[in-house]
Amino acid sequence: MDTTRVLLSDSHLHLHLGSGIFPSMARRWKGCSCAVSTQDWDAALTAAKAAPGATVFFGIHPWYASGDLDRTLSRLEDLLSAEPSAGIGEIGLDAFRADTDLDTQRIWFREQMRLARTYNRPVSIHCVRAFGPLMDELTAMPGSLPPFCIHSFNGSREIMDRIIRRGGSVSFSAFSLKGASGKSADCLHHAQDGHFLLDTDFPSREGQNLKEYPGMLTALYEEAARIRDVHVERIAALTAEAFAPFSGETTV
Ligand SMILES: [Zn+2]
Repeated sequence: MDTTRVLLSDSHLHLHLGSGIFPSMARRWKGCSCAVSTQDWDAALTAAKAAPGATVFFGIHPWYASGDLDRTLSRLEDLLSAEPSAGIGEIGLDAFRADTDLDTQRIWFREQMRLARTYNRPVSIHCVRAFGPLMDELTAMPGSLPPFCIHSFNGSREIMDRIIRRGGSVSFSAFSLKGASGKSADCLHHAQDGHFLLDTDFPSREGQNLKEYPGMLTALYEEAARIRDVHVERIAALTAEAFAPFSGETTV
Protein backbone atom coordinates (compact mmCIF):
# COMPACT_ATOMS: atom_id res chain seq x y z
CA MET A 1 0.00 0.00 0.00
CA ASP A 2 1.24 3.45 -0.89
CA THR A 3 0.53 5.49 2.23
CA THR A 4 2.28 8.60 0.97
CA ARG A 5 -0.87 9.95 -0.68
CA VAL A 6 -3.48 9.38 2.01
CA LEU A 7 -4.17 10.64 5.50
CA LEU A 8 -4.26 7.86 8.03
CA SER A 9 -6.12 8.76 11.21
CA ASP A 10 -6.02 6.82 14.46
CA SER A 11 -8.85 7.71 16.81
CA HIS A 12 -7.29 6.17 19.91
CA LEU A 13 -3.75 5.36 20.96
CA HIS A 14 -1.39 5.97 23.87
CA LEU A 15 1.87 7.38 22.50
CA HIS A 16 3.39 7.87 25.96
CA LEU A 17 3.09 4.15 26.75
CA GLY A 18 5.32 3.19 23.84
CA SER A 19 9.11 3.34 23.75
CA GLY A 20 11.47 4.94 21.24
CA ILE A 21 10.94 7.90 18.94
CA PHE A 22 7.72 8.66 17.09
CA PRO A 23 8.31 7.79 13.43
CA SER A 24 8.05 10.59 10.89
CA MET A 25 4.47 10.52 9.59
CA ALA A 26 3.89 14.25 9.46
CA ARG A 27 1.18 15.57 7.15
CA ARG A 28 -0.25 12.14 6.47
CA TRP A 29 -1.14 11.10 10.01
CA LYS A 30 -3.42 12.32 12.76
CA GLY A 31 -4.15 10.63 16.04
CA CYS A 32 -5.83 11.04 19.42
CA SER A 33 -3.32 10.11 22.09
CA CYS A 34 -5.12 9.32 25.34
CA ALA A 35 -4.06 9.41 28.96
CA VAL A 36 -5.64 6.96 31.39
CA SER A 37 -5.09 8.34 34.92
CA THR A 38 -3.93 11.51 36.65
CA GLN A 39 -0.48 9.94 36.87
CA ASP A 40 0.11 9.93 33.13
CA TRP A 41 -1.40 13.28 32.14
CA ASP A 42 2.00 15.02 32.00
CA ALA A 43 3.62 12.17 30.07
CA ALA A 44 0.70 12.05 27.64
CA LEU A 45 1.01 15.78 26.96
CA THR A 46 4.77 15.60 26.41
CA ALA A 47 4.48 12.62 24.04
CA ALA A 48 1.66 14.21 22.04
CA LYS A 49 3.60 17.47 21.63
CA ALA A 50 6.54 15.46 20.24
CA ALA A 51 4.38 13.76 17.61
CA PRO A 52 3.23 16.06 14.78
CA GLY A 53 -0.45 15.39 14.08
CA ALA A 54 -1.25 14.15 17.60
CA THR A 55 -4.02 15.59 19.76
CA VAL A 56 -3.76 14.87 23.47
CA PHE A 57 -6.77 13.57 25.41
CA PHE A 58 -6.89 13.74 29.22
CA GLY A 59 -9.14 11.57 31.32
CA ILE A 60 -9.62 8.85 33.89
CA HIS A 61 -10.03 5.34 32.50
CA PRO A 62 -12.72 3.26 34.28
CA TRP A 63 -10.01 0.95 35.65
CA TYR A 64 -8.62 3.92 37.60
CA ALA A 65 -11.90 5.60 38.59
CA SER A 66 -11.24 5.94 42.31
CA GLY A 67 -9.91 8.54 44.71
CA ASP A 68 -10.82 12.18 45.10
CA LEU A 69 -13.22 12.92 42.26
CA ASP A 70 -13.61 16.67 42.93
CA ARG A 71 -9.86 17.24 43.06
CA THR A 72 -9.33 15.22 39.89
CA LEU A 73 -12.04 17.14 38.05
CA SER A 74 -10.55 20.44 39.09
CA ARG A 75 -7.10 19.38 37.80
CA LEU A 76 -8.74 18.20 34.59
CA GLU A 77 -10.45 21.58 34.17
CA ASP A 78 -7.13 23.37 34.65
CA LEU A 79 -5.56 21.23 31.94
CA LEU A 80 -8.45 21.74 29.54
CA SER A 81 -8.16 25.49 30.01
CA ALA A 82 -4.40 25.36 29.40
CA GLU A 83 -4.72 23.11 26.34
CA PRO A 84 -7.57 24.40 24.18
CA SER A 85 -7.26 21.63 21.59
CA ALA A 86 -7.16 18.75 24.10
CA GLY A 87 -9.95 16.18 24.18
CA ILE A 88 -11.28 14.06 27.02
CA GLY A 89 -10.34 10.38 27.27
CA GLU A 90 -9.89 7.67 27.87
CA ILE A 91 -13.06 7.50 29.92
CA GLY A 92 -15.85 4.95 29.99
CA LEU A 93 -17.39 1.90 31.59
CA ASP A 94 -15.96 -1.58 32.04
CA ALA A 95 -18.02 -4.37 33.60
CA PHE A 96 -15.35 -6.97 32.84
CA ARG A 97 -11.93 -5.97 34.13
CA ALA A 98 -12.29 -3.00 36.44
CA ASP A 99 -11.76 -3.14 40.20
CA THR A 100 -14.15 -0.23 40.65
CA ASP A 101 -17.87 -1.00 40.79
CA LEU A 102 -20.02 0.10 37.90
CA ASP A 103 -22.02 2.67 39.89
CA THR A 104 -18.79 4.49 40.80
CA GLN A 105 -17.55 4.25 37.22
CA ARG A 106 -20.81 5.79 36.06
CA ILE A 107 -20.33 8.81 38.33
CA TRP A 108 -16.78 9.39 37.05
CA PHE A 109 -17.94 8.94 33.47
CA ARG A 110 -20.88 11.31 33.92
CA GLU A 111 -18.74 14.01 35.50
CA GLN A 112 -16.07 13.83 32.80
CA MET A 113 -18.78 13.97 30.13
CA ARG A 114 -20.15 17.04 31.89
CA LEU A 115 -16.77 18.72 31.47
CA ALA A 116 -16.65 17.63 27.83
CA ARG A 117 -20.01 19.34 27.29
CA THR A 118 -18.99 22.46 29.21
CA TYR A 119 -15.70 22.84 27.30
CA ASN A 120 -17.07 21.32 24.07
CA ARG A 121 -14.25 18.80 23.73
CA PRO A 122 -14.25 15.53 21.78
CA VAL A 123 -14.38 12.37 23.88
CA SER A 124 -12.78 8.94 23.49
CA ILE A 125 -14.80 6.24 25.24
CA HIS A 126 -13.90 2.74 26.41
CA CYS A 127 -16.83 0.36 26.83
CA VAL A 128 -16.54 -3.32 27.70
CA ARG A 129 -19.66 -5.36 28.48
CA ALA A 130 -21.48 -2.24 29.64
CA PHE A 131 -23.32 -0.96 26.57
CA GLY A 132 -26.69 -0.93 28.38
CA PRO A 133 -25.47 1.41 31.17
CA LEU A 134 -23.44 3.45 28.65
CA MET A 135 -26.48 4.05 26.46
CA ASP A 136 -28.54 4.91 29.57
CA GLU A 137 -25.93 7.52 30.51
CA LEU A 138 -25.67 9.00 26.99
CA THR A 139 -29.45 9.11 26.63
CA ALA A 140 -29.95 10.80 30.00
CA MET A 141 -27.53 13.63 29.17
CA PRO A 142 -29.44 16.71 28.07
CA GLY A 143 -29.11 18.29 24.63
CA SER A 144 -26.59 17.45 21.97
CA LEU A 145 -23.30 15.87 22.94
CA PRO A 146 -19.80 16.90 21.89
CA PRO A 147 -18.14 14.62 19.30
CA PHE A 148 -17.59 11.22 20.88
CA CYS A 149 -16.45 7.81 19.73
CA ILE A 150 -16.49 4.37 21.26
CA HIS A 151 -13.05 2.95 20.58
CA SER A 152 -12.32 -0.73 19.83
CA PHE A 153 -16.07 -1.14 19.37
CA ASN A 154 -17.42 -4.63 19.94
CA GLY A 155 -21.11 -3.99 20.47
CA SER A 156 -24.03 -5.03 18.29
CA ARG A 157 -25.34 -3.33 15.17
CA GLU A 158 -28.32 -2.13 17.17
CA ILE A 159 -26.01 -0.42 19.69
CA MET A 160 -23.92 1.02 16.84
CA ASP A 161 -27.04 2.56 15.30
CA ARG A 162 -28.09 4.01 18.68
CA ILE A 163 -24.63 5.55 19.19
CA ILE A 164 -24.75 7.16 15.76
CA ARG A 165 -28.29 8.44 16.35
CA ARG A 166 -27.00 10.04 19.58
CA GLY A 167 -24.42 11.89 17.46
CA GLY A 168 -21.42 9.63 18.09
CA SER A 169 -19.10 7.44 16.07
CA VAL A 170 -17.79 3.92 16.44
CA SER A 171 -14.14 3.05 16.07
CA PHE A 172 -12.76 -0.38 15.19
CA SER A 173 -9.41 -1.83 16.17
CA ALA A 174 -7.50 -4.94 15.11
CA PHE A 175 -8.49 -6.37 18.50
CA SER A 176 -12.21 -5.74 18.08
CA LEU A 177 -12.21 -6.93 14.45
CA LYS A 178 -10.57 -10.18 15.49
CA GLY A 179 -13.55 -11.04 17.72
CA ALA A 180 -14.47 -14.70 17.28
CA SER A 181 -18.07 -14.03 16.28
CA GLY A 182 -17.18 -11.56 13.53
CA LYS A 183 -19.67 -9.13 15.10
CA SER A 184 -17.40 -6.09 14.90
CA ALA A 185 -16.38 -6.87 11.33
CA ASP A 186 -20.07 -7.05 10.46
CA CYS A 187 -20.62 -3.66 12.14
CA LEU A 188 -17.72 -2.13 10.21
CA HIS A 189 -19.07 -3.58 6.97
CA HIS A 190 -22.41 -1.84 7.57
CA ALA A 191 -21.26 1.30 9.42
CA GLN A 192 -22.59 4.55 8.01
CA ASP A 193 -20.07 6.64 6.04
CA GLY A 194 -18.76 9.49 8.15
CA HIS A 195 -19.48 7.73 11.44
CA PHE A 196 -16.79 5.08 11.65
CA LEU A 197 -13.18 5.42 12.65
CA LEU A 198 -10.20 3.14 13.14
CA ASP A 199 -7.94 2.89 16.18
CA THR A 200 -4.82 0.93 17.04
CA ASP A 201 -5.04 1.39 20.84
CA PHE A 202 -1.22 1.29 20.51
CA PRO A 203 0.80 -0.10 22.27
CA SER A 204 -0.60 -3.61 22.13
CA ARG A 205 1.90 -4.60 24.82
CA GLU A 206 3.58 -2.43 27.43
CA GLY A 207 6.56 -0.47 26.15
CA GLN A 208 6.13 -1.61 22.53
CA ASN A 209 8.52 0.32 20.31
CA LEU A 210 6.98 3.15 18.32
CA LYS A 211 8.81 2.00 15.21
CA GLU A 212 6.25 -0.84 15.04
CA TYR A 213 3.40 1.65 14.98
CA PRO A 214 3.17 2.56 11.26
CA GLY A 215 3.01 -1.13 10.32
CA MET A 216 0.17 -1.73 12.81
CA LEU A 217 -1.80 1.23 11.50
CA THR A 218 -1.32 0.28 7.86
CA ALA A 219 -2.36 -3.32 8.51
CA LEU A 220 -5.53 -2.05 10.22
CA TYR A 221 -6.45 0.09 7.21
CA GLU A 222 -5.85 -2.84 4.87
CA GLU A 223 -8.08 -5.06 7.01
CA ALA A 224 -10.84 -2.42 7.03
CA ALA A 225 -10.57 -2.09 3.23
CA ARG A 226 -10.92 -5.86 2.89
CA ILE A 227 -13.99 -5.93 5.17
CA ARG A 228 -15.74 -3.11 3.30
CA ASP A 229 -14.47 -4.32 -0.08
CA VAL A 230 -13.11 -0.94 -1.12
CA HIS A 231 -9.65 0.52 -1.70
CA VAL A 232 -7.61 1.70 1.27
CA GLU A 233 -7.79 5.25 -0.13
CA ARG A 234 -11.58 5.16 0.25
CA ILE A 235 -11.30 4.01 3.88
CA ALA A 236 -8.78 6.79 4.53
CA ALA A 237 -11.12 9.39 3.02
CA LEU A 238 -14.10 8.19 5.07
CA THR A 239 -12.22 7.98 8.35
CA ALA A 240 -10.64 11.39 7.73
CA GLU A 241 -14.15 12.85 7.42
CA ALA A 242 -15.28 11.22 10.66
CA PHE A 243 -12.03 12.16 12.39
CA ALA A 244 -12.21 15.91 11.73
CA PRO A 245 -14.07 16.79 14.96
CA PHE A 246 -11.48 14.87 17.01
CA SER A 247 -8.34 16.49 15.65
CA GLY A 248 -8.42 19.77 17.52
CA GLU A 249 -8.50 21.57 14.18
CA THR A 250 -11.27 22.60 11.87
CA THR A 251 -9.85 20.98 8.74
CA VAL A 252 -8.03 17.73 8.03
ZN1 LIG B 1 -6.86 2.66 25.18
